[in-house]
Amino acid sequence: MTDTKQQPWEWPEPQWRHIVGRARAGRSLKPTVWPNGARCAVALSFDADHDTIPLRDSDESPMRISQGQYGSRQGVPRIRALLAKHGVPATFFYPAVSALLYPEEVKGVAGEGHEIGIHSWIHEANTALPPGVERDLTFRAADTLEKLIGKRPVGIRTASWDFSVDTMDIIRELGLLYDSSLMADDDPYEIEVQGQPTGIVELPPEWIRDDAVYFNMLRFSGLRPYTPPSAVEEIFRAEFDGAYQEGGLFLLTMHPHVIGHRSRIALLDRLVAYIKTKPDVWFATHEDVARYCDDAG
Ligand SMILES: [Zn+2]
Repeated sequence: MTDTKQQPWEWPEPQWRHIVGRARAGRSLKPTVWPNGARCAVALSFDADHDTIPLRDSDESPMRISQGQYGSRQGVPRIRALLAKHGVPATFFYPAVSALLYPEEVKGVAGEGHEIGIHSWIHEANTALPPGVERDLTFRAADTLEKLIGKRPVGIRTASWDFSVDTMDIIRELGLLYDSSLMADDDPYEIEVQGQPTGIVELPPEWIRDDAVYFNMLRFSGLRPYTPPSAVEEIFRAEFDGAYQEGGLFLLTMHPHVIGHRSRIALLDRLVAYIKTKPDVWFATHEDVARYCDDAG
């Protein structure tokens, strides 16, 4: 549909309307009341990318791969212990290759009542794939996770937090309940395609509520973790306070190889302890939030 010969200011109205209509926020699915009269919902998610970030880049550096392995060796055990200590559920999005590298971890996480969601094959960027490949990889990813945990995943977060022109069709063909990649709202909404409701729930993440944005580091680039854990804690806490005040959803994305470090897991511990001091907070998996909003909406 996009005519590359034309500049955006030359596009006819149907063209820019078509572009914005591909995966548009439709009606809000923010419920008037959360389960058990709760005032706000808290959905913690962990994108368990592990070794797949360098693999996705065809980077065979043992150093970079070891940073990914840290996510499994130190990050996930600390996260599981923290969640158990506070008695709260979470959602773990696994690239299939990450799940195949650490099958016992995936089974253990699922066995503790946490949700396992789809997160690509090898953390490939779905928007950069040749035609047809995204569908094949996403179906294989769903099959791989199902084989490991004995349950078909119902949700997806694309690895690049973005949609190609095919992603929406793939989500519908897979019969998924929800996506968690798009950012049109703070609260859950129904995705529309060209003005038509799809029945797919969007649980919006945001870079603001993502640990990697503040802590990532790349040796040979200017990328450094400029933000101290205390400042990240302040931002996350303010995002929660706003959700609590508005009766909305606080969805937080973290990465085991990022948040799992000693100086950072402590901030998550303090944050969850703070949230638990507030009355009427519903901690839930993404699946539970999506199902509740879908039924209530
Ligand atoms: Zn990821």
